[in-house]
Amino acid sequence: MERWGADLYGDPCDGCGYRWSLTPHEAIRVLEGLPDRFRELLKGCTGDERHPDLAWGPIEYVCHVTDNLRIWAEGLAGARLSGEVHVPGYDPDLLAQARRYHRIAPAAALWSLERAATAWSDSVTAALADGVVLQHAARGAQRAEDVARNNPHDAYHHAWDIERIIASAR
Ligand SMILES: [Zn+2]
Repeated sequence: MERWGADLYGDPCDGCGYRWSLTPHEAIRVLEGLPDRFRELLKGCTGDERHPDLAWGPIEYVCHVTDNLRIWAEGLAGARLSGEVHVPGYDPDLLAQARRYHRIAPAAALWSLERAATAWSDSVTAALADGVVLQHAARGAQRAEDVARNNPHDAYHHAWDIERIIASAR
């Protein structure tokens, strides 16, 4: 089984400081505030900024956060609307390659992120109300409340990564 959440990152997260004790609804509010934070962070970025320890630049991280939100929101919607609880997981690096993240304009990446965040918030809120439990191929059972905390952490953590990238590119 793949490790995830506080077990993998520490509580609070060793990197970004995210606290896993947030309630699912608090975590949803964290996520809803993040598109504005990403917009602020990307001001003045060309997309070519890099950090020596990180494979991706700032735009790639925004695109990854967007796709991650879409994929999990879709999985929860599938369980709620069709009863299909099995979700396969995905390879973020292959997806980055297939979608050519490095060619996506910053304004387009932010446009997608805002819409993905709204759709995610709707899907997670409905899944929490329905008590959805996904069966993830690599992580096992993932309750709606786990997804509600995990996905905001992914976004929050990568906002921190972007801060580090920008700081190291100065
Ligand atoms: Zn973190």
